[in-house]
Amino acid sequence: MLRVSDVTSFITCPRLAYFRIHHWVERATEYHAAREIYLSLRKGYGYEWAFERFSTLFPESEDVFRAAASKFRMSDELEGLQPVAWEVHFESERLGLRGVVDEVLEGDRFLVVMLTKNSEEFTFRERMRLAALCAISGMDGGYAYYAYDGKLMFYSASRRDRYNLLRLLEKLRRIEKGFLPERKESERCEFCEYRESCETKPSTFLSRFF
Ligand code: SF4
Repeated sequence: MLRVSDVTSFITCPRLAYFRIHHWVERATEYHAAREIYLSLRKGYGYEWAFERFSTLFPESEDVFRAAASKFRMSDELEGLQPVAWEVHFESERLGLRGVVDEVLEGDRFLVVMLTKNSEEFTFRERMRLAALCAISGMDGGYAYYAYDGKLMFYSASRRDRYNLLRLLEKLRRIEKGFLPERKESERCEFCEYRESCETKPSTFLSRFF
């Protein structure tokens, strides 16, 4: 079954989705740390508890946690949203897709933590992540909380987003079955955790038409 994160990986780089689906490597990121901080503060615990949880999963990554903690902001706007559950997993057999929302809120809405936002619009990548969460949770909208900017934004799934999501899932399904997309060099390649494996796997003729 695919994960919602496979959808966003695919938008970043189709090959990245291939490697994450077939050769998953877990590594600590500021996103993981910011999410733990958010959950701990919303549940009434503090930064220490957030670090306890984070370091249990990523024992050698205190510097990552410190970096996230120094940028993290909690907005007063969140006080108007009442959580009824945290870290809720959803999956859709029909779509072959699973994922997790950070909070389920009163009023049939969800909330997920993101990091930064410097515009008033959602990017395509953000819309697809949120549309995927709507599709698996059965809710028609939810919030993104940008933890480094203290910014809350509401998303409502459009028909166009739902359609684009289905198109992405079709492509991901092929990757899941073993299809390797064409390699496209980008800025991300420089710090990609799969760079070595990626460079040794040649693109095929067919992958150009993917
Ligand atoms: S090295 Fe570049 S092309 Fe290869 S998976 Fe990473 S980001 Fe994609």
